[in-house]
Amino acid sequence: MECHSFEFGPFAENTYILIGKEKQCIIVDPGCYNAHEEIILTDFIQSRNLHPVALLNTHAHIDHIMGNDYVKHKWNVPLYLSHLDIPLFERAESMAALWNLKYTPSPQPDIDLQKGTLELTGLSLEVCHVPGHAPGHMVFIHHDSKTVICGDTLFQGSIGRTDLPGGNHEELLSSIREQLFTLPDDYTLHCGHGPSTTVGHERAHNPFFPAGS
Ligand SMILES: [Zn+2]
Repeated sequence: MECHSFEFGPFAENTYILIGKEKQCIIVDPGCYNAHEEIILTDFIQSRNLHPVALLNTHAHIDHIMGNDYVKHKWNVPLYLSHLDIPLFERAESMAALWNLKYTPSPQPDIDLQKGTLELTGLSLEVCHVPGHAPGHMVFIHHDSKTVICGDTLFQGSIGRTDLPGGNHEELLSSIREQLFTLPDDYTLHCGHGPSTTVGHERAHNPFFPAGS
């Protein structure tokens, strides 16, 4: 699997494109905030002759769903989101107003993202429920390429914030221990913000998980 990232929006959110067979691709967490960023995403897709077939949201925080409306209308792809994040999804417009952000409301999700296996574009993605940053936060694992799209669960040297509605610090720590740190060391973690890292690096160095904890 080929994985491309773009950094978009006022929160420097990472948007991912996962490329599978026959130039089909999956767009994860489109954070495009303006026409310029929409063009960057579109140019990449068109220049590579890619065909988007699905739109996945790891969770429903506004910086991860800002580009949903654009992507949905541009490529008419089904939107996948966990039903556990619908309360956050419904609150996105008021959060945008609170932060004085421009926000075109996302279309309603088409498919409830469930834990298990998702077969898309010839890729087999394991969908894991990793709550704590958001109640319905899902992580996508492509085992063949040892790639994890981990959203805002774990960052290089940090973890997702838990002070927003629906957040729970202890739940996030145990979710990461049980769902991510059980993966092999050499799996790459592509995070919702900041640089990518590996499971081994975070298990050894992440300050939220001191040795033996
Ligand atoms: Zn978030």
